[in-house]
Amino acid sequence: MSAQDAAKILVIEDEAPIRKFLRISLESSGYVAIEADTAAKGLAHAMTEPPDAVILDLGLPDLDGLQVITRLREWSRVPIIVVSARGRESDKVTALDAGADDYLTKPFSVGELLARLRVALRHSASVAGASSDPIFCVGGLCVDLGRREVTIDGEAVRLTPTEYRLLTVLVSHAGKVVTHRQLLKEVWGPDSVYENQYLRVYMGQLRRKIESDATRPRYLKTEAGVGYRLLDE
Ligand code: CA
Repeated sequence: MSAQDAAKILVIEDEAPIRKFLRISLESSGYVAIEADTAAKGLAHAMTEPPDAVILDLGLPDLDGLQVITRLREWSRVPIIVVSARGRESDKVTALDAGADDYLTKPFSVGELLARLRVALRHSASVAGASSDPIFCVGGLCVDLGRREVTIDGEAVRLTPTEYRLLTVLVSHAGKVVTHRQLLKEVWGPDSVYENQYLRVYMGQLRRKIESDATRPRYLKTEAGVGYRLLDE
């Protein structure tokens, strides 16, 4: 990858050692890192030099990182990965519902961050190109979105319309965590965002049909207290 087409990653983080660590990790993986130590500088960079993804700390000196997410989402769909010392489930849910694409709690491994970044960049590329493959496969699971067919190791799986809809929402966000609220809204509609029991029931049914061991799911992972993630690699 030449410097010209290397993905630009904006790092908004006030702690210099972490910022430096992120820059070195990104550059050694072929990305171009742009650094900002305040929310204001980060937002200004995002405007003047639109990045391909943003890595955002929530504890910033001038604005809370959540406000940065809200402001960016007023005009941009750039992938945002939050890295924060705030590890409570409610903090993750708030950031994801505000429009973040993913969330890592400090301390995190570089490998994990780079994997999440690849997922985020792949998603934004397929959204931009609008030519995403109509057949999604991971391991033995394949979802043919054109034919509305789901197979496990080549065997057809019969899903109810609601189970299928739930699965396709997860497919459209594959690799990323989707909050309970987002799933409820997309599958059952905006009036149902607090009906967590719908989700539990249908996720249980879906897992029994798709997973070889529903108690130890291989594809449909639980993010405790936050939501679910369909693996994509
Ligand atoms: Ca901080």
